[in-house]
Amino acid sequence: MTARFARVALPLPLAAPYTYRIPEALGDRVLPGARVVVPVRARELIGIVLEIDTPAPEAEAREVLAAPDPTPALPEALLATARWIAGYYGSPIGLTLKAMLPSGMWGASQVVAVRVAGAPEPGGLAGQVRDWLEQQGGEATVAGAARKFRRPLWDVLARLARVGAVELRVVPPDTGAGVATERVVVLTGESPTLLERDTLFRRRAKRRRLYESLESLGGSAQVRHVVDQLGFSEAVIAGLAGQGLARIESVERVRDPFADMPAVPPPDTLTSRQAEALAAIERLAPGASALLFGVTGSGKTLVYLEAVRRVLARGRGAIVLVPEIGLTPQTVSRLRGAFGDQVAVLHSALSDGERADAWRLLRRGERRVAVGARSAVFAPIADLGLIVVDEEHEASYKNGEAPRYHARDVAAVRARLEGAALVLGSATPSLETMARTGQGLETLRLPHRIGSRPLPPVELVDLRVAPKVTGTGPLAWSEALDQAIVATLARREQALLLLNRRGYAAFLQCPDCGEVWQCPRCSISLTVHRAPDGLRCHYCGHEEPLPFTCRVCANPVQQMRGIGTQQLERVLAERYPEARIARMDLDTTSTKWGHQRILGEFEVGRIDLLIGTQMVAKGLDFPNVTLVGVVDADTGLYLPDFRSAERTFQLLAQVAGRAGRGPKGGRVLVQTRHPTHHALRHAARHDAEGFIAEELSLRREPPYPPETSLVNLIVSGPDQSATGSRAAEVADWCQGLEDRYRLGVSVLGPAPCPLARIKERWRWHVLLKGEGTALGRIVRYAARRLTQAGPVRVILDRDPVTLL
Ligand code: ADP
Ligand code: ZN
Repeated sequence: MTARFARVALPLPLAAPYTYRIPEALGDRVLPGARVVVPVRARELIGIVLEIDTPAPEAEAREVLAAPDPTPALPEALLATARWIAGYYGSPIGLTLKAMLPSGMWGASQVVAVRVAGAPEPGGLAGQVRDWLEQQGGEATVAGAARKFRRPLWDVLARLARVGAVELRVVPPDTGAGVATERVVVLTGESPTLLERDTLFRRRAKRRRLYESLESLGGSAQVRHVVDQLGFSEAVIAGLAGQGLARIESVERVRDPFADMPAVPPPDTLTSRQAEALAAIERLAPGASALLFGVTGSGKTLVYLEAVRRVLARGRGAIVLVPEIGLTPQTVSRLRGAFGDQVAVLHSALSDGERADAWRLLRRGERRVAVGARSAVFAPIADLGLIVVDEEHEASYKNGEAPRYHARDVAAVRARLEGAALVLGSATPSLETMARTGQGLETLRLPHRIGSRPLPPVELVDLRVAPKVTGTGPLAWSEALDQAIVATLARREQALLLLNRRGYAAFLQCPDCGEVWQCPRCSISLTVHRAPDGLRCHYCGHEEPLPFTCRVCANPVQQMRGIGTQQLERVLAERYPEARIARMDLDTTSTKWGHQRILGEFEVGRIDLLIGTQMVAKGLDFPNVTLVGVVDADTGLYLPDFRSAERTFQLLAQVAGRAGRGPKGGRVLVQTRHPTHHALRHAARHDAEGFIAEELSLRREPPYPPETSLVNLIVSGPDQSATGSRAAEVADWCQGLEDRYRLGVSVLGPAPCPLARIKERWRWHVLLKGEGTALGRIVRYAARRLTQAGPVRVILDRDPVTLL
């Protein structure tokens, strides 16, 4: 028999996977997608099998030590998705899988051997190992067993596993705690017909309602959910169990910090527009996609919910992606309200162990809906029927490190691979998505708000000429905005104020010599913060004390320029002393559940004025918000990035969409010095299509996406001139490929990045423009040739969302 080999990915920055020999005894378990224990230098790591029956390597190959999974942990479709990402974005497959899978499932995780009772008793060493496991309370790590027996035990344990005498489990390094359990009510038997129901539940309407609720949840639910959220008493549950129609089971409890959030039951009838959109989604062919283009407040969430419900009813699963889970608690609550414990919430605050728990539940089909930010696109849903990407235009769907994938684009690939439908939702679709509406992406429109509420009127306040309130220091505060706030407070309604700049003042400048305090490690000015006082860099976190005198001319007076959320909060507290004011930005939400706390207080009316950065603009639905003010609409308008107008438009449209969601209506005031800019003009008319048409024409010459595709090659290093010359080499190398193969790609640069230095590294970039396939060829070459180690690094960013 000839030796067989497997290629195994490890979560390490390796250019290529390692090859291992497959021992005969593990032949049927070492399959693509399975986890294996392999030796790496002096360690044992858990890796993922990519391919089997690969050619023998040139050097002597070491052996796979163990294969703990009876069936591969990673489904075939996800492995195929990983391969697509690695190829398209030019990222090593090991790093790609590292981003896709919870780290608690592999890498430095441990394998634990668990004794299975009632299996045949083996003799010899195997028997001793099994007896020892019993003394250890039934389980022990394989490494611990090897120490005890002073020899590697993989062969012995593999044999025991094969006869069912032990089970090998992979556990994350951080979970030692026992598994908690909780009670679940499960329906039993065949579903009764309507006629049978009438007799079964005669005069027991509550019991019947419980039965049918459980049915709509797929046949089971946590007792806690049924009591707390659905409002059934324990007695009704006991009654159903007593009748033999359900039983109570005790199952492993999964630690979930979202579990205590209120579950909001959805409205029960769709508007005719929503029903049409839903029907169109249901008609989508497997792998096909639709854009749900609906104004803010048009009820897109309910369409997603109903689409998910239909998919579940057909026994399939769904993924719902949201831009940032901490900012969208309402979407999570609605999903939970509709589907209870079918939903796994994947969010960044989960520990490794919790993440691995959630993965396991999804993989086993015990949870069939995953909701989360970009990485939830990798949720191992069995039989995936639907992927929803809410607010598809959001930049946070792009991963900021290798693999630099865009979750919306990965979702499209996964949907095609698995025959799922893809729904992209937005009130302000990205230009890329709009460009695809002509090419197979179906557009479904929700042009009106629910209850025919009008979109709130948006007034642009031209700060160059508008009458201003005096005594607000560097804050430009128009009388119009001031009066609107006073009136809102007098009516006991709520206002939301957007200022997309955190901190106290944007920068500190000496009025005498003009010196501006800059970060010593990055090429941006430091932001002034109060309480605690200091200068802080928003890129690297560098901090220094506020200076008393100018370091250049020793002038004692410093001037703060530009105003941030902190200073705004102080000015407003003085101006409206009776108002209850809160601030939401990165500084106030750094704790795990900071967002929820502030939004919760706002929702119950304990806050009158909520001030914040772009965080306050996202998906919130608070009917008592009747005024939205944009303090300075120009903060992002002239950034050196071709998307700055698009981002400004989207931000204004989103934040305007928070006003007037209830019967009291609402209005929006936008302070700007550029009222004729197309982003502002179209935002003032709620005219997404008008904006998109005008912006598209600006992207034609010089061409920018969607007119062309981009790859940004970022060269960074500690030495300025070495970095610059490496960037020139990279540009020459790209130009050389273009000259040789005539790909039709233009090579722009090298040029310093607009943020020329971050964290002590100088940054240059080379921008490639061209058609997708041609850029794909360059990315493939570059992935092999350009990203070597050393002090100067080259980053490949395909389809970049920012060029800063
Ligand atoms: P969008 O996501 O499009 O901004 P939402 O999904 O937040 O809008 O819906 C706006 C509001 O309308 C929510 O309060 C929601 O509960 C309510 N709503 C949605 N659909 C319906 C419906 N069919 N009947 C009654 N209220 C609805
Ligand atoms: Zn810095």
